[in-house]
Amino acid sequence: MVVMKFGGTSVADRAAIERLMAIVRAERQAEAQRESGDARGPIVVVSALSGVTDRLLGVAAQAGAGDAEGARSSLRELHERHVTVSEVIVDDDLRASTREAMARDVGELERIVLALSVLREVSPRWMDTVAAAGEVLSSRLVAAALTSHGLPAAWVDARLAVVTDGEHQAAAPQFTETTAALVAQVDPVLASGRIPVLGGFVGATRDGVTTTLGRGGSDYSAAIVGACLGVAEIQVWTDVDGMLTSDPRIVKDPPVVPHLSFGEASELAYFGAKVLHPATIQPAVARNIPVRILNSRCATARGTLITAERPDGGRLLTAVASKKGVTVVNITSTRMLMAHGFLSRLFAVFERFRTAVDVVTTSEVSVSVTVDDARRLPAIVDELSGFADVSCEDCMAIVCAVGEGLQRDTGLAAHVLAAVGDVPLHLVSQAASRRNITFVIRETDVATALSRLHEAFFAPGQGLRAVAGAAR
Ligand code: ADP
Ligand code: ASP
Ligand code: MG
Repeated sequence: MVVMKFGGTSVADRAAIERLMAIVRAERQAEAQRESGDARGPIVVVSALSGVTDRLLGVAAQAGAGDAEGARSSLRELHERHVTVSEVIVDDDLRASTREAMARDVGELERIVLALSVLREVSPRWMDTVAAAGEVLSSRLVAAALTSHGLPAAWVDARLAVVTDGEHQAAAPQFTETTAALVAQVDPVLASGRIPVLGGFVGATRDGVTTTLGRGGSDYSAAIVGACLGVAEIQVWTDVDGMLTSDPRIVKDPPVVPHLSFGEASELAYFGAKVLHPATIQPAVARNIPVRILNSRCATARGTLITAERPDGGRLLTAVASKKGVTVVNITSTRMLMAHGFLSRLFAVFERFRTAVDVVTTSEVSVSVTVDDARRLPAIVDELSGFADVSCEDCMAIVCAVGEGLQRDTGLAAHVLAAVGDVPLHLVSQAASRRNITFVIRETDVATALSRLHEAFFAPGQGLRAVAGAAR
């Protein structure tokens, strides 16, 4: 059995949900053939309709600013969009009952939003409650749509199935409790021959307080569900043909990478390949479950398969990713010279303010690190200034070139840097045993750097391994 996750554009409107249904039907038929007629599943995980999470966070912001009327009217628009899309439910009774359930969800949300607008304050906890509504609504819609088209499905409330800690907006799943909850919620649905449909992105603490897994978190939900229930494959259906060699919003027509290792996919997702939430691969690795990225607009395309190991594709590099909105923090202290304990003191500050550091470089008397979550940076700088000189450079970007080949070919990293040409490099990080080379540049240089890397490594005839018969 497989888990199939459909992203926002894959449930955006009636036409998208019709494509989703055709894909699920084909999978169910394939499963029936594999299992000699005993079709189970698939398990379906859906994002909110595209743009809805942004709109809901906008509603929360309106409420926080005391704009009750604005928030109410945005909610009304969102509600109307879902009512329009519910035309996809062809059974009259089912459409009516789904609309009633959605009206109840929106009514409850409206009461919360109005209360927040009186308080003029929206804590991360309430942000999560508001944001979660997108996936609650979309999953209700998709479950009913499938049932009405002869694919018996049941809505599973993700808030009862995914148990997380209380770190709002970036909650971490509690795997033991989630497994028990998923078994209780999903198994009876599967046993009755129906298709469980859950909203992604959403969970709840063990006390029942709604949480979310962070933006783009539906991929992670699908992987959590897949790993906890031990499925054969986790499929991520999106709006591109798979993991591409570069961000298609920056580089024109990058080719698809047919096969990635778990390690390569994790690096790419972590360093900005938006097509996968950075945590998605972790649960898949834990249970060694293949992940496949597929295009819901072109279901016949082969997509990208991600497994523990991959065959050598004959390419020097596998793909390149980039992450903008990064700040470089330079920490300099003469006390660092020949002293021990300096680094642990420094990193303890980042730890205390729960801020992750991505790239680190050191010299004799200075350390430079990058952070992409700058919310607690003023407090961090304040603390560091107690024992070092600190300067920050914002509007920076991390570029990460990934390939298992970097481990084998020690000259390849220099080749990557040479391809970037005269773009000023602020930090460079690479280790002999690693499958990536990472460097930091100005945000405004990202398009140039990525295009040059693309030209050198991924344009037709370029970047092939010499043994594959092409020049390097
Ligand atoms: P979904 O709503 O299906 O989760 P996302 O918008 O989160 O979709 O992710 C898909 C998008 O990721 C693509 O449309 C593409 O613009 C972007 N993207 C960035 N880097 C890559 C990459 N290396 N390969 C594929 N897509 C990428
Ligand atoms: N709807 C959520 C978001 O927009 C989660 C997701 O789409 O994966 O971030
Ligand atoms: Mg996504």
